[in-house]
Amino acid sequence: MQFEQGTNPARVKAANQSAILKTIYHCGPIKRSEIAGRLGLTLPTITTNVNSMMARGIVRETGSEPSSTRFAGRKAHLVDIVPGSRHFVGLEIQGARRAVCLLDYRGRALYARESLGEQRDYDRNMDMACEMVGRALSACGLGLESIAGIGACLPGLVDTRRGVLEVRPSYSWTHKDIRGDIAARIGYPGPIHVENNACARAYGAQLFRREALGDAQTFAYLFLSQGIACPLVLNTAIDFGSVVGAGEVGHMVMVPNGAPCSCGNRGCLEAYSSDTAVLRRCGEALERGDAPVLRRLCGGGPPDMEQVLTAQEEGDADVAAIVEEAVYILGVAVANINNFACPSLMLIEGKLFCRPANWERLLKIVGCNLCGAVHPATQFIFVEPDPLSGAMGAAAMAICKDLETYIEL
Ligand SMILES: [Zn+2]
Repeated sequence: MQFEQGTNPARVKAANQSAILKTIYHCGPIKRSEIAGRLGLTLPTITTNVNSMMARGIVRETGSEPSSTRFAGRKAHLVDIVPGSRHFVGLEIQGARRAVCLLDYRGRALYARESLGEQRDYDRNMDMACEMVGRALSACGLGLESIAGIGACLPGLVDTRRGVLEVRPSYSWTHKDIRGDIAARIGYPGPIHVENNACARAYGAQLFRREALGDAQTFAYLFLSQGIACPLVLNTAIDFGSVVGAGEVGHMVMVPNGAPCSCGNRGCLEAYSSDTAVLRRCGEALERGDAPVLRRLCGGGPPDMEQVLTAQEEGDADVAAIVEEAVYILGVAVANINNFACPSLMLIEGKLFCRPANWERLLKIVGCNLCGAVHPATQFIFVEPDPLSGAMGAAAMAICKDLETYIEL
């Protein structure tokens, strides 16, 4: 790939700088000559840029590679990112919980916390989330001036360019200026990036699961929680952070004229396979006097996903039927996503799949509905659900954007 060509020298220079920084980020510690080889740039271009990155303290020499021959002259020094040179904040704001983390440039968490508690009032929820950012900074002894970027993510439809949450139907939050509201509350003048929370997890996968992603050119991140989303991602060192789109996969109609969905339609994937749908259906079973094991486990209160999975494990036939239908419909949807988009790899995060029996069943149903002629080699990885993965993903997104827009001033 050539980056030096073009008619706008400033833009070419910025693109070169960003490509060099991303290559060091992904492949470091790395030799200057290897960066040149990977990017198709000249060694002097690499050296000039790396020297200025070193002068700014974001890149350093980390030793030298052993000589491969006895006659080697100067040893080639390896360069790498300086982890403590930049810091990023990640925030996930949901109705029932908020999570915040503070990462260094390498993505190591210096601080990560969640706070539980339903808060349907948007402004109050935002206040609570921003107070958590303040606590994270003071716990790490950092001021706002040391934060290179903030990433924030939420469920729902997000306009990433404007940093606006367009709609979050289940909470009646519409047209919320997330970027502006965070900036005003914490007084932060730097970059604030806003994303859907499944897309943020896809950014997190790119940063934290490089080995699992391997050389997959594209991957999908299926995230099941209150809703269902499945962003597709281009996965190359240069296009790092290219989340193509979340898609409204949760509102794919799986059962024409089926169960009502929060979007107003009927038969959507979310109406069967999201946590919300499984819990609603289990609640209905309890009201009918069914699901005896689940009834004992939740003692009259509303069930949670852990109790549902335990009841399934302990042989509650009513709960098992609900979960099996959720997995069946999801399996058909996953096969359709793969038949259509053909990602090399699909990561799946959802509480339903804490039980191996459920992911085994899912893979079986996918196998029955996957068009082998289209894409026989899609690989599936089940990701353990983590309450902090949204905040970590949002911070990872801020790091990706930082690498993407690196311009030396
Ligand atoms: Zn729907």
